[in-house]
Amino acid sequence: MSNAWINTNSGRQFFPLAPVADDIDVGDIARALSHMCRFAGHVERFYSVGEHSVHVSRAIEAMGGSLNDVRWGLLHDASEAYLVDIPRPLKITDGFAPYREAEKRLQAVVAVRFGLSVKEPEVVSQVDRSMVAIEADVLFVNRNAAWQAPYCEPRLKELVKISAWAPDRARREFLDRYKELFSSNISQRWVCQPCGMCGLNVEKYCTRCGSSDVGVFDADR
Ligand SMILES: [Zn+2]
Repeated sequence: MSNAWINTNSGRQFFPLAPVADDIDVGDIARALSHMCRFAGHVERFYSVGEHSVHVSRAIEAMGGSLNDVRWGLLHDASEAYLVDIPRPLKITDGFAPYREAEKRLQAVVAVRFGLSVKEPEVVSQVDRSMVAIEADVLFVNRNAAWQAPYCEPRLKELVKISAWAPDRARREFLDRYKELFSSNISQRWVCQPCGMCGLNVEKYCTRCGSSDVGVFDADR
């Protein structure tokens, strides 16, 4: 165990099996996740865990998630920066139980590091699962007949647009989103009365339908 460390992009000595909050760096997370391809790389175009994380976070915001939910959405796969992305069908097997334990431990330390709730909010796993269906439609061309897309919330299909950003773009978008959610003082949220679109911080117009009929509320954490 003592030797099980990796050299992170920033030069840190990181122990994925014995993680320490102080060693978790958002720059390292953004760098690694923007270089990591989802679906174990079996996609038509490069599509990173970093981009996926940005979409999950934005979708949760648009659906009216709290600030904690939205932040969790951005960082829900942060452990993969240190443990890499294992496809779900493999990850849920008995053989991968130690991986799941390590992932759970690491995500708990990530939650401490970024001041998130200890438990991942339910909406994060719901949106995360739905995203697979949306991503597969765009990126997964030669689908085996036995492959079944998970249930996808219909509203999410119109909210999420898969771009397949190159790594540099994905890293920038991830870090911009991080700054937006963690550096600024978000005190309010809005809900569009006609279309139900939601967002953090005050907007005069709905970002989806353009209506000025938006209700403003205090942001719940
Ligand atoms: Zn609207």
